[in-house]
Amino acid sequence: MQRLDGTFSIMSDLFSKCYAFTRDKEAIEAGFYPFFKAISRLDGPHVTVDGRDLIMVGSNNYLGLTTHPKVRQAAMEALREYGTSCSGSRFANGTIDLHEQLEATLARFVGKDAAQVFSTGFQTNQGVIAPLLSRSDTVVIDRLVHASIVEGVRLSFGKVRRFRHNDIESLRKNLEASADSQGILVVVDGVYSMEGDLAPLPEIVATSKEFNARIMVDDAHGLGVLGKSGRGTLEHFGVTDEVDLVMGTFSKSLASLGGFIAGDERVISYIKHHSRALIFSAAMPPSAIATVQAALEVIETEPEIRETLWRNTHFLRENIVAAGFETGPTESPIVPMIVGDDFRTLFFWKRLFDEGIFTNCVLAPGVPDGQQRIRMCLMATHTMEDLERVVEICTRVGKEIGII
Ligand code: PMP
Repeated sequence: MQRLDGTFSIMSDLFSKCYAFTRDKEAIEAGFYPFFKAISRLDGPHVTVDGRDLIMVGSNNYLGLTTHPKVRQAAMEALREYGTSCSGSRFANGTIDLHEQLEATLARFVGKDAAQVFSTGFQTNQGVIAPLLSRSDTVVIDRLVHASIVEGVRLSFGKVRRFRHNDIESLRKNLEASADSQGILVVVDGVYSMEGDLAPLPEIVATSKEFNARIMVDDAHGLGVLGKSGRGTLEHFGVTDEVDLVMGTFSKSLASLGGFIAGDERVISYIKHHSRALIFSAAMPPSAIATVQAALEVIETEPEIRETLWRNTHFLRENIVAAGFETGPTESPIVPMIVGDDFRTLFFWKRLFDEGIFTNCVLAPGVPDGQQRIRMCLMATHTMEDLERVVEICTRVGKEIGII
C-alpha cells in the first residue's frame, strides 16, 4: 500500500490467511479429518486405509466397472498402442482416432447428433456454459446444481437467475423475469449429487419451452444408472428429444476421467470452436478414452450389473430408513443420512470409519447449514454381506450417539 509520503509499506502478507488456517491440522491431530484420505489398495468395494480394510460406500463407481476385466483390458491395450498421453490440446495435436470413435459412440448412446469430449466433467460444464452465453442472454439454474455449473455461469457474460430446488413455480417466475433476454438457457442436474433426488424433467422441459428457453441437463450421476437401458435421466423420463444438451462425466459409472457434451451438431461445433476449457487444455489420454468406450459396451451388453446396483440400492435404502435415519427425497443409489450439524456429522463419520466403513462426510457449505450429512453411494459390486454389515454398523453407531 502507498503511504502519504509516496513510499510503500506492506500492510499485510497475502499468505497470512493461509498461515492462520489451522482447522485441518487441529482436525488431523484429533483424528477427525475426513478429507483427502489416502487409499493404498482399491479392490472393488473394499479399500485399504492405514492398513485397515474398509467397505467403500463413498464412491461414484456405481457399476463397479473400474475393475471389470473387459474395461481394464481395453485401458491396457490403449496404453500399449498409443502411450501414456496425447501431449496437447484436441484443437492442435491432441486428437486421436479413439477420441472421435468415442464421440460417435456417446452421441448414439445418449440419442443426440454429436458429442464433444472434454478432459474432466468440471471443465465440460465450464467450457460449455461460458461460451454459449453473451451479455444479452440469461442462464436459469436450480439452486443446488453442481459447483462446476456455477463456475461455468460465473465465467460467462450472461445474467444469472436461480430457482428454488426442483420448484417449477419458482422456475416459471425466473423465466418470466428473463423475458427481456435475447436467449435463455435452463441448466439442471439430472440427479442431485448430495440429495440423490431427480430433476422433474418433464415439467422443467414443458415450462422452459413456453419461454423458448434451451435446456441443458448435467447427467453425471444418471448415466449408466437410470433408464431402461442405462442411458440416464432423460431415458428414465422419456425426454431425450426435448432436452437440447446432455452433459456427462466419465468419473462415475463410466469408470474413467473426463466429460462430454452432446446435442445438435451445429451447437457442438460452435462449442468446439469457442470453448477455452477445451482449446487450451490437453486432451483425455488414450487409456482413459478406451476405458469409457469399453464401459459403454459393458453397459449395453450386461444389463444385469445395473439390476444388481438397483437391488443393492433398494436393500440399503429400505434398511437405513427402517432404522430411523432421515434420508431425504433420494431416488437413486445415493443414500444420505442427514445429521444436521457439523460436529455430530464429523463424529458420526469418524465412528463409522473406525468401525470399518468409508463414507462421505458432507459439511456446510457443501450443503446448507442444518443439512449436514453422511452420504453413502451404492455399487453393483457390493455383496449382500457388505451391505448387511453397513446397515448393522450405521444402526448401532447411530443409536449410540443419538442420531436415531
Ligand atoms: N457434475 C456433477 C453433478 C458432479 O457430481 C460432478 C463430480 N462430482 C461433476 C459435474 C464434475 O465431474 P468430474 O469429476 O468429472 O470433473
